[in-house]
Amino acid sequence: MFESSLSGNIFFESILEDATGRSIKVLKTQFKSGGCINNALKLITTEGDYFLKWQSGIPEDMFQKEALGLKLLSNTNTIKIPEVYAYGKVEGKHYLLMENIESAQPSNNYWEDFGITLAEMHLNNTSLKYGLDHDNYIGKLPQPNDDKEDWIDFFIHNRLEYQLKLAIDNHMVNNSFIDRYRKFYEILPQLLPIDRPALLHGDMWSGNVMVGGDGKVCLIDPAVYYGHREIELAFTHMFGGFDYDFYDSYKATYPLDSGFEERIDIYNVYPHMVHVNLFGQSYLHGVEGVLRRYL
Ligand code: ADP
Repeated sequence: MFESSLSGNIFFESILEDATGRSIKVLKTQFKSGGCINNALKLITTEGDYFLKWQSGIPEDMFQKEALGLKLLSNTNTIKIPEVYAYGKVEGKHYLLMENIESAQPSNNYWEDFGITLAEMHLNNTSLKYGLDHDNYIGKLPQPNDDKEDWIDFFIHNRLEYQLKLAIDNHMVNNSFIDRYRKFYEILPQLLPIDRPALLHGDMWSGNVMVGGDGKVCLIDPAVYYGHREIELAFTHMFGGFDYDFYDSYKATYPLDSGFEERIDIYNVYPHMVHVNLFGQSYLHGVEGVLRRYL
């Protein structure tokens, strides 16, 4: 935890004024680690606590899209989502100001409750097509959401192929990889089941899951779209997986097609490719393993 300098406080107070139209004094700041992209801190002010993210050199609409995604999830009245107060630009830096979530100990039925509420969100918030009425971001990478009636078509074009093109532009992949990766598209219709489009958080790794003040789950930093809900559950396995109670209660509330466990690595080609493009080639091995298994 670091205290900010006086000049830092003046910058944060300018943001608060831009966001609220009022002059609010910052009493103390606490930096938050754990995010991958932006600067983040808790502002303790004369008018209560705020959570602030800020960054320069990011796409102009990145925080606007994050705010839209948080609002879409919040409107489902299922899982707790922090309230967004404002986003904007001060001194050339983009900011997103929202409700500060004070973490507490997880409640006894934390994982069970999380599984049930996520299942309810997927069950009750559906769409006729896969996609969304706007493109957004995953991390700081663009995430296209052009709508499609077919899930596999959507997954290939807006997720796998889009990330491959970024990796080609970033000189991350060679021709042999590109050929095998595209061949993999051809067998996806035999491997992936069909389901109706459900509203997804879209980036549900453990770093985007917080325990709120009431001991229940609170989700942050989404990459929202309507997709196959299996990709959401697969995402939770990216860095080790969640508690068994989470999956059991999810399935009891909204059952999955049999064989989901075998499909996890297929869906996770997408977040692996996102990691390749954000953090480097070391994440390619996760994709190579899947290509070797199926081709
Ligand atoms: P990034 O955009 O860099 O990935 P995150 O949105 O993940 O940043 O936020 C960084 C960290 O700040 C998170 O790991 C979490 O600990 C904390 N955090 C995020 N949102 C809130 C919030 N609304 N209230 C309190 N802490 C938060």
